[in-house]
Amino acid sequence: MDSIFSPPLHRQRHQFVIDFVKRNKPKKVVDLGCSECSLLQKLKFHREIELLVGVDIDGANIKKKMHGLAPMSTDYLQPSYDQLRIELYQGSVTQEDARLRGFDLVTSIELIEHLTLADVKRFSEVVFGYMTPVAVIVSTPNSEFNPLFPRPAGFRHSDHKFEWTRAEFKSWALKVCLEYGYEVEFTGVGQAPPGQQERVGFCSQIGVFHWLGGRQECNMLFGDDAEDVFSYTLLYSINYPSLHDNNILQRVLVSEVLYWAEKMKRNWIEERTGERDDTYTLCPAEGEGEECLRASERHMEMEDKQTAACGAEMKNPGEHQESELFWTNGEGQQESCKLRRCVSVPLAVLWSCCPKLSALSGSLSNLRHVLMDNPEVKLSQDGSAVLLNDQEQDLEEEEEDHDDLEDSGYAVCSHGAEPEEDWEKNV
Ligand code: SAM
Repeated sequence: MDSIFSPPLHRQRHQFVIDFVKRNKPKKVVDLGCSECSLLQKLKFHREIELLVGVDIDGANIKKKMHGLAPMSTDYLQPSYDQLRIELYQGSVTQEDARLRGFDLVTSIELIEHLTLADVKRFSEVVFGYMTPVAVIVSTPNSEFNPLFPRPAGFRHSDHKFEWTRAEFKSWALKVCLEYGYEVEFTGVGQAPPGQQERVGFCSQIGVFHWLGGRQECNMLFGDDAEDVFSYTLLYSINYPSLHDNNILQRVLVSEVLYWAEKMKRNWIEERTGERDDTYTLCPAEGEGEECLRASERHMEMEDKQTAACGAEMKNPGEHQESELFWTNGEGQQESCKLRRCVSVPLAVLWSCCPKLSALSGSLSNLRHVLMDNPEVKLSQDGSAVLLNDQEQDLEEEEEDHDDLEDSGYAVCSHGAEPEEDWEKNV
């Protein structure tokens, strides 16, 4: 049946829901009779939705593709500000479950015709009377369209218990509105051929219900005295990575800080090649971008200030070989380590040069606060700068160590080289 429509009818139904979501921006959405979660798959990209739930009586159907709802690796690599939780339940729409109350949108796409008329009554009580969402979209076949199909008379699917005319659907919908305080608009998808639309209507008829009370009033319905019923079985739940999660925010901030600090350090050292000092200090400059990478000569001249900015205590100022570095560990205790040379990148420079950092942290003091608790970042004693090891020096030292080994007469293995066997000897 889908093939006579372009796009296919099931896609048109889902697109109808997506267009509604784009216009109305519901935060909590539940799809009843979600089957293999194909509508949920599309809705998960609409990040105004914070809670997306699917319910179906057939748990095996849900399980077939539910893992396709998991976040993608890009969601972890670049977490967004949006929050999204997905839950899938096995349960019947004829039963109440307190976890489904207070939603902004309930969708029931080609579901009610699979219920007996007694169950449709129960569906109305549960959805409109108990769950009381702000909006409900119900789609069901329009039997008046059926004669246009080149196929024998009968229902469109063997499991259908009924297929309503437009008048029958309207009669049920208006009764629901009267009973539970909703209003309804009728529409549909799957256009009839030109000239026949008015006579037969849409292939799938759709009722869009809106609760007549406001959202606030709706929430007030769920008082503490209401007894919570949990009749559904949770099959799957997942929280999408979000910058609202403090751990994730911290991880992203730290990696941004380290990335930018390292980048600035490298640019600056390149510029300063030949003018090596024991402690390099990158200072806030008037301008942005390249300007920020320029060290102020004033700082370079004032060794005391450099030392303070670096949080380093020179053990032997004459040789400038070793300095002691302090930072605060996760428990707020001060720790120290020996640094030969370090580069100090003021947080203020990082904050003003990297828009993402300022957007994520909100303020310089927030940023400092986050970094102070993180063992991956070494801050100066006053917390005003990030301290980085001078890696060029480390490399030089590694090379020296390497030379030492060679001199000592020990064999030196190159990385990745397999030890060579003497095959001829073995043979
Ligand atoms: N909504 C799906 C879509 O748009 O792709 C298709 C729905 S499929 C035609 C009907 C679904 O309703 C089936 O997956 C079936 O298991 C489910 N169903 C039938 N009776 C149900 C009940 N009492 N409660 C919940 N789901 C039910």
